[in-house]
Amino acid sequence: MTDISASSLLSSGQLTVDLNAIARNWAALDKISPGTLTGAVVKADGYGLGLEEVAKKLAKEGAQFFFVANPEEGLRLRAALPAAHIFVLGGLWPRTAEIYTQARLMPVLNSMAMLEEWLAYCVEHGEAYPSSLHFDTGMNRLGFRLSDVSWVRQQLERTGYQPQMIMSHLACGDQPTHEKNRTQLAFFQSIMAHFPEIPASLANSAGLMGSKQNHFQLVRPGIALFGGRAISGRNNPLAHVVNLDVPILQVRDAKTGESVGYGADYTLQRDSRIAIAAIGYGDGFFRANSSATNHMGARVAVKGKLVPILGRISMDTFAIDVTDLGPNGPVPGEMVEVLGPNVSIDDIADACGTIGYEVLTNLRGRYRRTYVGSVE
Ligand SMILES: *Cc1c(COP(=O)(O)O)cnc(C)c1O
Repeated sequence: MTDISASSLLSSGQLTVDLNAIARNWAALDKISPGTLTGAVVKADGYGLGLEEVAKKLAKEGAQFFFVANPEEGLRLRAALPAAHIFVLGGLWPRTAEIYTQARLMPVLNSMAMLEEWLAYCVEHGEAYPSSLHFDTGMNRLGFRLSDVSWVRQQLERTGYQPQMIMSHLACGDQPTHEKNRTQLAFFQSIMAHFPEIPASLANSAGLMGSKQNHFQLVRPGIALFGGRAISGRNNPLAHVVNLDVPILQVRDAKTGESVGYGADYTLQRDSRIAIAAIGYGDGFFRANSSATNHMGARVAVKGKLVPILGRISMDTFAIDVTDLGPNGPVPGEMVEVLGPNVSIDDIADACGTIGYEVLTNLRGRYRRTYVGSVE
């Protein structure tokens, strides 16, 4: 029997992650924040692209400070990178301080309860285990409130404890002219004045790219590392990282007036050639990418040319209009570019009313995943 599995694609698509592009993006971001440490946010499994692969590549490029969301991601990252500095953005999970300290994970302490528990653990063990303090300057997500500042200072004075870093997070960094950026920056600077010796960090990708004033001692880019657009309405200068190519299962001809797909939502306006691609919402290709007769859905590329989606996305397939490719159109087995040089994660996000972050973190479908530029 012939072994076709080694050469042929037997899954629903080929996902290629260009780690070299991620490394180039990190270096580019590092360059626009000179004199500032450039960290790397690799939460949610490295924005869906693979925590270990991404983080090892970034460490090789020079990144030393990493951010994950929860301690489980922290432990995975610690196993991959024995020397990295790892912050856990979600903070301290209750009664797990020992796990953090053994794995040298630094919680981002977001609340009085977290700070109390961490300080009690440090006092009990006679050791100032490192952490970061997070102040909420206007997002109402995680972090101490401004009114907690004097309580926090008292706790530090009482115990003689010095955190590694103080930080905050911008709500509207993707809109650099938004008034909220100025008020958050001002609040953050007023907090910094209470902790003058402690390094500070405010900027995510957008904050970093939006204004030097946000840089301080450490910047925390995530999405920009992965080629996503950080600032809305601006040209995205970063390299694209993900290619998703999906085979065509069938090509068919249909007549004007016939409908395509579930719900008969799309009625052909001309005699058409339709190609059926082998992924659907079951692979994280959102149903919101669907089109209807009066609504244009997402577009993908075939042979380098953008083509529209026809009708609703199914669980395992979607239809595209390849009429305009003429007699040289695709045949079954040829690939549709769902993400790549012609279709960015933000193109897909814009078409279906979400953000590139969500497109990326849903690429967990039935893909064969290949890395370009792996470390080791
Ligand atoms: C996710 C996150 C980041 C990275 O944000 P991007 O917009 O992806 O650059 C930075 N800081 C915090 C606190 C975050 O939660």
